[in-house]
Amino acid sequence: MSTDTATDTPLVGRIHSLESGGMVDGPGIRFVVFTQGCPLRCLYCHNPDTQALWDGRDITVDDLMKEIVKYRSYMRCTGGGVTLTGGEPLIQHQFTREVFRRCQELGIHTTLDTSGFANLNVAAKVLECVDLVLLCIKAFDADLHARVAGVPREPTLKFAQYLHEIKKPTWIRFVLVPGLTDHPANVEGMAQFLSGMHNIEKVEILPFHKMGEYKWERMGGDYALRDTLPPTSEQIETVAQAFRQHGLSVAV
Ligand code: SF4
Repeated sequence: MSTDTATDTPLVGRIHSLESGGMVDGPGIRFVVFTQGCPLRCLYCHNPDTQALWDGRDITVDDLMKEIVKYRSYMRCTGGGVTLTGGEPLIQHQFTREVFRRCQELGIHTTLDTSGFANLNVAAKVLECVDLVLLCIKAFDADLHARVAGVPREPTLKFAQYLHEIKKPTWIRFVLVPGLTDHPANVEGMAQFLSGMHNIEKVEILPFHKMGEYKWERMGGDYALRDTLPPTSEQIETVAQAFRQHGLSVAV
C-alpha cells in the first residue's frame, strides 16, 4: 500500500474492518480501526485473519476520516475517541500516524493498541500523535515470549521503557493463559519490570478465551490451545495480586 507523504499521492492504509461502537479498547465509546498485518504469531490470537498484510482492503486516510467524523459527537459525550488496533498498527506507521494526527487536529482522543514489536525510531514518530497506548506484553520470560508470540521480547520491553521515559499514558495488557503465561516467575518478572513506571495507569488482565478458534479452523491453521481452558477466578486473582503487590493498579 502507498504511504507516501512527500507527494500528492493519497495516503492509503490496509485495514481488516471498522467498528463504530467499541467499548473495550480504551476509554469511552470508540471508533475502532482494525489494521491488517501483524509480525507476531500469538498462539492465542483471536484475530488470525488480521495477520496477513495481503488480506483486507485499502482505505485512504481521507475516506477513513469521513467515517470517523460521523461519530464525533458520541465520542465526545462518552469521553471516547479513536483506537487503531489490529493486527499491528505500527506496521503501517505512516498511515497510523496520519490518522492520529488528523484526529488530534479535530480534538478526538487517540489510542494505539500495539504489541510494541516495532522499530523504536519509527514508533516514536507515531507516538507524538497518540494520547494513550494499550501495550500488550505477551510474556516477560524471554523463552516464553518467543514461544507465545513467535518473536523476541526485547523490542517490546524497549518500547515499554521508552513510553516510561516520555511519560506516555499507558495501559498494559496481559493475556492470562493457564499453563502458559500464568507461571509465577513470568508474572513476577513482569510486575517487577513495570513497577515504578508512573506512566502506567493500569494493568488489564485479559483472561484467555477461545472466541477466535473458529477462525483458525476456517483458515486451516493449527490452533495449539484447543485443549486449554479459560482461567478460573482464583487464577485471575492470584495474578492480579502479584501486580498489585508491586503498586500497580489492576483491571480484569
Ligand atoms: S499481536 Fe495481536 S493480532 Fe498479532 S498475532 Fe498477536 S494476538 Fe494476533
